[in-house]
Amino acid sequence: MKVICIGRNYADHAKELGNAVPHEPVFFLKPETAVVYPGKPVKLPTNLGEIHHELEVVVAIDGYGKDIPANMALGFVGWYTLGLDLTARAVQNELKAKGLPWEKAKAFDGSAVIGDVALPLAAGMDLRSSSIELRRNGTVVQEGRTRDMIFPVAELIAYVSQYMTLEPGDLIYTGTPSGVGPMEPGDIFEGYMDGKRLLNSAVSKG
Ligand code: MG
Repeated sequence: MKVICIGRNYADHAKELGNAVPHEPVFFLKPETAVVYPGKPVKLPTNLGEIHHELEVVVAIDGYGKDIPANMALGFVGWYTLGLDLTARAVQNELKAKGLPWEKAKAFDGSAVIGDVALPLAAGMDLRSSSIELRRNGTVVQEGRTRDMIFPVAELIAYVSQYMTLEPGDLIYTGTPSGVGPMEPGDIFEGYMDGKRLLNSAVSKG
């Protein structure tokens, strides 16, 4: 399986990092070793500086698809949840400045946290009218609405599938709203979607 992550999919987050709002989706990959399955502790790496949280809607692909039309794309989603795209921000900034790939900052072990509650994508649901919220130790640090995605989930699936075959088990992280910030050992992160807690993760030192 592979983890496909979308960058800069909410204008307010693109702006908070000083990036232009994209005209087509930006994506990158994380390996399977990045995934932190439900119930596993989130361990922060000790050799990458400050690690930031990015709260994202995550969709799981349940079929094989290439060149998927946008109007059929949601049929390839088996379930969805919330996840955290962990980012070594200073390392990423350094790589971006040099025009180098981001993997060291984005694809490290444990950098793709997934929520412990997965919901089936019911017929007719398009994930365009949900609110998402991340609480760090009980305080809200990120809030967003999926209608503010620059490219909705169906378009992301269609776009990525033009370049790589999607396979069952693939995960797509659909981008983060503004409010990204540091994670520390001892933190508890809770992700809510439409008021329902889908993610509950304790952070420890790696
Ligand atoms: Mg992200």
